[in-house]
Amino acid sequence: MRDDNCIFCKIANGEIPAATLYEDEDFRVILDLGPAAKGHALILPKEHAANLFELPDEIAQKVLPVAKRVGARLFKGLDCDGFNVVQNNGEAAGQTVFHFHVHLIPRHKGDTVKVGWVPGRLTDEDKKEILDLFEE
Ligand code: 5GP
Ligand code: ZN
Repeated sequence: MRDDNCIFCKIANGEIPAATLYEDEDFRVILDLGPAAKGHALILPKEHAANLFELPDEIAQKVLPVAKRVGARLFKGLDCDGFNVVQNNGEAAGQTVFHFHVHLIPRHKGDTVKVGWVPGRLTDEDKKEILDLFEE
């Protein structure tokens, strides 16, 4: 399914041009227009899914192999020291375009890219609450 109002549907399906690093029947990988770092790329499925929870398993299982293949070429070609694979779901998590996508972000020692959080502490109360969610 495609969403006529979705910019990433149009880009993924070639209706709007984008700098394409890789394409197959399910995905297009493009350069991000507002890169966190040189080479920042986005993996876009061609079918619309707003987020990870809407993404069919059949597509989801193909995402990491694409991240690995394209990421490895960026890593080598840009002589990276590290690499982030990031995927945001929901406005609260930083998602701004509501068509599932995965960020590939090349990293170099000493760069100023910010992907991270301040570590908290796992309390016994939180641990119990979360483990209880997974009780059958
Ligand atoms: P999100 O915040 O939803 O995880 O990531 C959206 C990303 O899409 C941002 O990094 C933003 O720079 C990028 N972006 C938004 N619109 C366009 C566009 O029209 N073309 C490209 N290539 N990237 C876009
Ligand atoms: Zn879409």
